[in-house]
Amino acid sequence: MSNIKLTSNLNKQVLVKIIQAFDSDDFPRSTYQIPFKMRPKHSDPLYRCCIHKERAAIRERVIAGLGFSVAEDDHEKLLSQYAVDALERNELAGEVLTAIDTACKGCVPVRIHVTDMCQGCVAQSCVASCKFKAIKIENSKAVIDTDLCKNCGKCISACSYSAIARLRVPCEEVCPVKAISKNDLGVVEIDFERCISCGSCVSGCPFGAIHERSQLIDILQAIKSDTPVVAMIAPALGGQFPEPVGKLATALTRAGFTHVVEAAEGADLTILHEAEEFIERSKEGEPFMTTSCCAAYRELITKLVPELEKYVSDTPTPMHYTARIAKDRFPDCITVFVGPCVAKRKEGLQDPYVDYVMSIEEMGALFVAKHIELSECEDYEFSVPSSTEAREFAITGGVSHAVGTAAPENANITPFCIDGLDKKAIALLKSFAGKGVCNQGNLIEVMACQGGCVGGSSILNTPKSAEVKIKAYGAKGQSIRRILETV
Ligand code: SF4
Ligand code: SF4
Repeated sequence: MSNIKLTSNLNKQVLVKIIQAFDSDDFPRSTYQIPFKMRPKHSDPLYRCCIHKERAAIRERVIAGLGFSVAEDDHEKLLSQYAVDALERNELAGEVLTAIDTACKGCVPVRIHVTDMCQGCVAQSCVASCKFKAIKIENSKAVIDTDLCKNCGKCISACSYSAIARLRVPCEEVCPVKAISKNDLGVVEIDFERCISCGSCVSGCPFGAIHERSQLIDILQAIKSDTPVVAMIAPALGGQFPEPVGKLATALTRAGFTHVVEAAEGADLTILHEAEEFIERSKEGEPFMTTSCCAAYRELITKLVPELEKYVSDTPTPMHYTARIAKDRFPDCITVFVGPCVAKRKEGLQDPYVDYVMSIEEMGALFVAKHIELSECEDYEFSVPSSTEAREFAITGGVSHAVGTAAPENANITPFCIDGLDKKAIALLKSFAGKGVCNQGNLIEVMACQGGCVGGSSILNTPKSAEVKIKAYGAKGQSIRRILETV
């Protein structure tokens, strides 16, 4: 389910332009010029038939980058007005994802299609296979009547030449909860009653047509103010860049953040409380407990699988604990969580301690726009270094291992991991809730992204390679046992 977002380059270019526009003397007017600067007169189109269509798609990406929903755009409002509205808003209201209409229209709806491989053969096995009489032969070639076709795919297996193909819609394929589909205008629509903010469609769309509504302007404005702004960096960042986390933290201070705190510091508290909670629940005879730190999993339960609610740990997430630590340590500060995950942006909007969320992609754009070279940054000194176990929260298996390490040996924890919330995994979780039993283990760790947070929708590295780097970052942490002795 997880993959590196292949369209990241174009998105990043747009985000870089937004940041540069913000830093320019004529902001917000400068935002209006972004599509024209990215596709100047007489330039060649890169993805579409003409630069006008590309400018239209860039304009919509800027709207999302300024934090607004493209669905609500009337095509008349100037980008500079959107920028003014971004400066004036207090919070990002509504859903965190938005579809870029002009980009999405390039992708054809799901259908069965006869390719040029069709030989117009004598057997006509495709015609015979279709019980809906949707195929006939015209001019020695099979033709499908789309009004009659039910997309059953029988003709695909019947054809001896593999000449019939099913055209898929990538975002629909990857969505684990059937929350996304094309409408009659050929534009994707998200059913937010079902969407769990897993971000699979964001990384799965080859046109980059699903965007997070960014809070970059809010963050840049906070940085420009006199208020301290604290970046809380997710452990997953440790696997994304060739440079170590310490250099990333320094780069964030060069971009204007006053302090940087590891979200793994909050994860240490999650580990401690989750271990205690597990023991209490076991004593009360509960058959199993699931972890609570994956925001997409929590959204799944709230919206679609409420019967699992009673098995989910009540322990707050590392992001929540870290934000509380930051607000305590740096009074009146603004907190910004930096991570790879759409669902965390949603969680951040609902957590009073978290002011903003920034994706890894947005952080990368910030460094590019401000000409910050990671390799030239020195290592940042974290005031409270976190544990090895907490840093490994970013990898599937990390949370349950950490809880198992923190719990006393007689706690008899047997972990079981759900590595990626696909349809099969959701059915399995439902069956645990339905029977009130999980034969695979008594501590179920659920990670919506395959590989863990290192498989989130704004990653820059493959989960496997990120895992190796995170283990190296984790190895430099303290032992959770040592931290527990001091709590
Ligand atoms: S994959 Fe989905 S979002 Fe992307 S272009 Fe196709 S229909 Fe639109
Ligand atoms: S974020 Fe996840 S749940 Fe929501 S529409 Fe996209 S793939 Fe489906």
